Amino acid sequence: MRSVEEHRAAVLALVGPTPAQAVSVGAALGRVLAADVTAAVDLPGFDNSAMDGYAVRAADLAGAHESAPVVLPVDGDVAAGDTARHVLATGRTMRIMTGAPLPDGCDAVVPVERSDGGADRAALTLEPEVGRHVRRRGEDVRAGDVVLPAGTLVGPGHVALAAAANVPEVTVHRRPRVTVVSTGDELVPVGSSLEHGQIVDSNHLMLRALVEAAGAEVAAGVHLRDDADAVRAFLEAPDGDPDLVITTGGVSMGAYDTVKEVLSEVGGVEFVKVAMRPGMPQGCGTVAGSGVAVVTLPGNPVSSFVSFHVFVLPALRAMAGLDPAVDGGFEAVAGEGWSTVPEKLEATRVVEEDGVVRRSGGQGSHMLGALAEATALALVPAGTEHVEAGASVHCVPLLGHDRTRG
Ligand code: AMP
Ligand code: MG
Repeated sequence: MRSVEEHRAAVLALVGPTPAQAVSVGAALGRVLAADVTAAVDLPGFDNSAMDGYAVRAADLAGAHESAPVVLPVDGDVAAGDTARHVLATGRTMRIMTGAPLPDGCDAVVPVERSDGGADRAALTLEPEVGRHVRRRGEDVRAGDVVLPAGTLVGPGHVALAAAANVPEVTVHRRPRVTVVSTGDELVPVGSSLEHGQIVDSNHLMLRALVEAAGAEVAAGVHLRDDADAVRAFLEAPDGDPDLVITTGGVSMGAYDTVKEVLSEVGGVEFVKVAMRPGMPQGCGTVAGSGVAVVTLPGNPVSSFVSFHVFVLPALRAMAGLDPAVDGGFEAVAGEGWSTVPEKLEATRVVEEDGVVRRSGGQGSHMLGALAEATALALVPAGTEHVEAGASVHCVPLLGHDRTRG
C-alpha cells in the first residue's frame, strides 16, 4: 500500500503553477501574486492633517493652556481634496479638516476640541509640539517600495494597500481550471424523482463546491454513465480546457468500475491503494496520448470529500502559486477517545471548538449527515490503535472552516 505522503507527492508531480496574468486590483481578491507590487506613490502622498482642527505654527502657541488660550485670526479653511497650495502666515491659523494638505509653514494641528471653534478668530488652548497631529508624506510607504511580494495570497487589506499605492493592475496566477467528472449508472441530477436504486449525484455538486471554495474555477462538469466508450472519449478530450480533471467513482474493485478499467487500458494513470481511511482506492496520472492530468477519487461521498482535501487541495494550492505544504494544520486536544485502524492514516471527521475536537457523528464513508457538521479532519497517523481522550491530535481545517474565514 502507498502512503498518504507518497500519493500526495504523485498528485503534486502532475501540476505546476498556472501562468501569470494581469488583473485589475479590484479583481485580485483570493488570487496569488505572480510578481511583486511596487508602490507608485508615497503614502501619505503629502503632509496632511490627522484631525479636524486648526493649522498652526507651533511657535505661535507658546504657553497656550486651558486657562490661558491664545487667540489667532483665522485665514479660511482647508478641506480634504483642496488642491490649492495655501501658505500659513506667522501669527495666524486656518481651519483644517482630516486628510487636508497642510498649508506651507504649518507644522502642527490643534484639534477642534482644544478650541472655541471660532471661524474668524479662534481661541486655542494647546501648545502643540512640532509635528503634532500631522501625517508626514511617505511615513507609511515610499514610492518604489515593494509593498506586496510575489506569492502573497491577496486579501482585502492587500487590495486596499495596492489601490492606495495607486497600482491599477497586479500580476496574479490564473485560477486553476478543473473539470469535474462523476461516473455511475445509479446517479441522477438533484431534484429528480428517484427510482428504486437511484441516488442523487451529490458528489458532482460537492466537488464543484470544493473546487470553488479552494479558489479554483470549475472549467466544466459532466456526469458519465458506466460506459467504457463514453468515459474513454471524455477523458481523452475533456471539456473546459482544464489544468486538471477530477473524477469520482468507478475506481474500486467492482465489475463496473469503468474509470479504472478504461484508464488502465489507455495508460498513463496508475491505480493504487493508499493507506488512508476513508479513501483507499485512488489513482492519478496523465492520460496517455492527450497528456490530461487526472486525479481519480473514490465514489463514496465521504471518501471523495476527504480525498479532495488530502490530495487535490495541495495540488490546487501549488497551481495557484501557493506553497502546497502550508495547509492551516493545527494541534488540538481530543475531547473524547476513539479507535482507529492501525494500518492506515485515519482522517477522522471532527468538530473543533476552542482547540478541542470531537467526532462528528457516524464515520461511515457514505454518511453525509455527520460529514456536514465537521469542521476539520483529525489526521491520526498509521500505527495508532486508539486516540486517547486528552491526547494531542494533528488536524487540518476543512474548506469553508479555515480559522481566518470562519
Ligand atoms: P463506486 O466507487 O463507483 O463503486 O461508488 C462507491 C459508492 O459511492 C457507491 O455507493 C456509489 O453509489 C456512491 N457514489 C459514487 N459516485 C457518487 C456520486 N457522484 N454521488 C454520490 N454517491 C456516489
Ligand atoms: Mg460506480
